[in-house]
Amino acid sequence: MKPIDFAELKVDALLITWLPNVRYLSGFTGSNGMILATPDSSTLFTDPRYTIQAQEESRTKVRVAKGPLIKAALESIKRKRLKKIGFEKAHLSYETFETLKEGLPLGAALKPTAGVVEKMRLVKTPEEIERIRRAVLTNSAAFASAVKTIKAGVKETDLAAEIEYQMRRHGAEKTSFDTIVASGARTALPHAQPTARPFGNHELVLIDMGATQDGYASDMTRMVFLGRPDAKTRKMYDAVLRAQLSAVAAVREGVTARKVDGVAREELRSEGLDKEFVHSTGHGLGLEIHEAPRLGKKEKTRLEAGMVVTIEPGVYVKGLGGVRIEDTVLVTKTGCEVLTPTSKELMIL
Ligand code: ZN
Ligand code: ZN
Repeated sequence: MKPIDFAELKVDALLITWLPNVRYLSGFTGSNGMILATPDSSTLFTDPRYTIQAQEESRTKVRVAKGPLIKAALESIKRKRLKKIGFEKAHLSYETFETLKEGLPLGAALKPTAGVVEKMRLVKTPEEIERIRRAVLTNSAAFASAVKTIKAGVKETDLAAEIEYQMRRHGAEKTSFDTIVASGARTALPHAQPTARPFGNHELVLIDMGATQDGYASDMTRMVFLGRPDAKTRKMYDAVLRAQLSAVAAVREGVTARKVDGVAREELRSEGLDKEFVHSTGHGLGLEIHEAPRLGKKEKTRLEAGMVVTIEPGVYVKGLGGVRIEDTVLVTKTGCEVLTPTSKELMIL
């Protein structure tokens, strides 16, 4: 883990209020916490519900506050005579900002910062990679168990419930996001919420699922076909699979995120399906399901070994349906390692 560069930020303290960043820096997993970090010390502020847990988990000093955490942090700021305090501008409510500003000692000032800890989280440590690996394997094991329950008449919500039950059975603590199960023409909705719609014969089912284990997310999309796929569906599936495989092949250290996105888009353009590819090719994941880097059209970030990203092109045709295929991959110096072990052949049931 790289240290926070206070000199570069031109601050003498950084107030971290975004919980995934708090967890990254301290190891604390509770739901209420903030960190005041300075070049020579870091303090985690939390409330009395977390006294024992914070002492067990946190690598930094712990202060249990009776009232609002921001007030306790302000006391520290005063005591340590801190002058320039950076805060996470994307992760501070206006109310907390007001309290912070109004409570600052004379001569002290605030400075908005963006993505400081998020940047540190871009390249994963070996321990983080191990955790993501486990989460990915749990996710695939849950898929393998849940997929056996798919048949005509089973509802989208039934399958979503089975998937989430199997994730827990296989060791996940929670889902990384709301499980997506869509069937028939609803597969054309990239982020469909499962409904009471029963699966019919001769139709597609899209499953996008992620298991979180030891705090780390995973993400996979697979397609199942009930019955015999028609030519149009087959063609769409094959095009998306080719786009996914070419994007995976383009991933390596040094390549820009937009280059990988472009490879997937180009493959779909050759099939006349690029207009139906309405989202970006992938995203980083770790403590959060969506992290930097985004693999989008305009993203100039260069991939580095140790980043973990998804590769998930998709095509969505109103009235017909959609296909998305998604793996979680680890960027390496020479290419990438596909962490997701689940087959990408269209599963026909
Ligand atoms: Zn997904
Ligand atoms: Zn994803």
